[in-house]
Amino acid sequence: MKRVSIFGATGSIGQNTIDLIMRAPDDYKVVALSGGANIAQLAKDAIALDAEVAVTAYESRFEDLQSALQGTSVVAAAGASAIAEAAARPVDLVMSAIVGAAGLEPGLVALQQGATLALANKESLVTAGALVLRTAKANQARLLPVDSEHSAVFQALIGEDISAVERIAITASGGAFRDWNLNDMANATPEQAATHPNWDMGQRITIDSASMFNKALEVIETKEFFGVDPNQIEVLVHPESLVHALVGFNDGALMAHIGPADMRHAIGYALHYPDRKTLPVERLDLARIGQLNFRAPDPARYPALRLAWDVMEIGGMAGCIFNAAKEKALDAFIAKRIGFLEMATVVENTLTKLSGDSGLILAEMTLDTVKHTDQLARRIADETIQKREG
Ligand code: NAD
Ligand code: MG
Repeated sequence: MKRVSIFGATGSIGQNTIDLIMRAPDDYKVVALSGGANIAQLAKDAIALDAEVAVTAYESRFEDLQSALQGTSVVAAAGASAIAEAAARPVDLVMSAIVGAAGLEPGLVALQQGATLALANKESLVTAGALVLRTAKANQARLLPVDSEHSAVFQALIGEDISAVERIAITASGGAFRDWNLNDMANATPEQAATHPNWDMGQRITIDSASMFNKALEVIETKEFFGVDPNQIEVLVHPESLVHALVGFNDGALMAHIGPADMRHAIGYALHYPDRKTLPVERLDLARIGQLNFRAPDPARYPALRLAWDVMEIGGMAGCIFNAAKEKALDAFIAKRIGFLEMATVVENTLTKLSGDSGLILAEMTLDTVKHTDQLARRIADETIQKREG
């Protein structure tokens, strides 16, 4: 029986994880669940899974959670430090499915106790790749990718030597605006950006898919996770979202991972690793699908992509700055304070402002220095947003 905790349990990845666990209740003991404002869902799942503890991110919601759990053996807790404490409870595997940089700390705590970290939260590796990898190594803890592209690359690399890899291509659907012109994109609303042609995901990652900030984060995640050079990474627009990634080897072979656009594949792969177990996902009928299309992304419509390579070139804390500014710009777009294309401008301005400070960029990466840089970048991004509002 695997002992498992799920952080971000009420979100899209969290709910898909719980779906898989509920199908095999004898294989898992759920220890901790965390969520945000959806107290009813958090309590319902914690009770159904007989979790030890349920934590809401919001201290102000503690009493609501406590009363929803009354009469059960599930302990209620609230706040970021309670989430970190819950991550220290001994388990075999932690599903890191919080959205944003808030996912970093519980992931680090999980690694410190030697748990396998199933990483849906791509922001952890973007914000603090060196710190996450160092913590995993020091505690002999395993990292498993849950992002579909990285799970695909991981699977294509089984039995292979990373030194034989020439290139890694991750695919992008192109998001909600893949066929829109630049002018229409400039006027796009958050509601329009929050619909995805192929994947059913949380609101933030869906908008990030339309801007390709999601793909930019994933490019950086690829570099950190697999230790390849930036010039070995490619992005391919693939409207069908069935080929998730391709690994090119030095003999010219391309190993593609093909599967349905259902996150339960990558989640299930990580949950059961190193075994493969039967998963409730669609079996593809390629003869019926008939064709798969690929094209290069248009750099003019997706400025976020270019920024990913800038970030990798600057190195150090640039990923932390990039992610923090992106989170702020996304908040401002959702609040209709800035336009869709202005998100990239805000992020680029923040990166430009801070990347000249070599003391900041090259500081030793600890949770404290990362948090400090994250806060600073958020402040600078905010200033840029306020200026653009005039
Ligand atoms: P979501 O918005 O559906 O859920 C996010 C979860 O995090 C919720 O449980 C929410 O309560 C919690 N949360 C939000 N802010 C928090 C905070 N400040 N502190 C603590 N908890 C907080 O998001 P999602 O789509 O499930 O994505 C989760 C992560 O997985 C993201 O990093 C995303 O990039 C990544 N991911 C998602 C998908 C997908 O299909 N949804 C695919 C690949 C990667
Ligand atoms: Mg992905």
